[in-house]
Amino acid sequence: MRRLLESVPETRANAGAQTSAARLNVRYAQAPADEILRAALEALPGQIALVSSFGADSAVLLHLLAQIDRDVPVLMLETQMLFAETLQYQRDLSAHLGLRDVRLLTPDPDLPEDLHLSDSKMCCALRKVAPLESALGDFAGSITGRKRFQTGPRAQMPIFEADHAGRLRINPLASWTPAMLAQHIEMHDLPRHPLVARGYPSIGCAPCTRPATNSDPRAGRWADETREECGIHFAPDGRVIRRKAG
Ligand code: SF4
Repeated sequence: MRRLLESVPETRANAGAQTSAARLNVRYAQAPADEILRAALEALPGQIALVSSFGADSAVLLHLLAQIDRDVPVLMLETQMLFAETLQYQRDLSAHLGLRDVRLLTPDPDLPEDLHLSDSKMCCALRKVAPLESALGDFAGSITGRKRFQTGPRAQMPIFEADHAGRLRINPLASWTPAMLAQHIEMHDLPRHPLVARGYPSIGCAPCTRPATNSDPRAGRWADETREECGIHFAPDGRVIRRKAG
């Protein structure tokens, strides 16, 4: 793994990262999530951050990380629009797992509170995309908890991919199913986000999240809009990945 990733810092251009990701996908296609995570962290020590929403099933990836290295930076977008329960859960789960470097990324404090009502895409761009882009500028790679079952755009998501800036992005849970997540949470007796029990299978900002009653776990996100992604996940060519044009 280290040898395969040696060229990543020098080849920040998209093509180089895509080539590295393609090779890694072949090598780790059948590897368990903890092996993928461990290998990536060892290959790029101090150069990878894990991005977490501290949402409905975030405990799984954070638990796997904590088994390996509690000092890896964990980036959380504190949009200033989150549920109070999410902020409390972040504190509780971080303490439970012993995470030692959780960083809350905050937007410009002067943003209008009701921006999501007039221009929700701009709101996401300023509260999520810009702070994350700024924070990830310090890293050569990032780790996400995205799963293929979540939305259409994620259905073909690889384990390793290049992000729009040529960083390596790793999705160790890409192939996990809801049953696998539930089993891991139960097996390790991990704390659940309190809103899960109140009907929220996917949890984002308070104004843009509703309980979901159907089989789509992200149906409660931007329920009045056609989009399913906030814009923090880009295709290698820089396009924002969405299933439908918003
Ligand atoms: S999810 Fe809603 S409140 Fe949060 S940043 Fe996006 S538009 Fe704004």
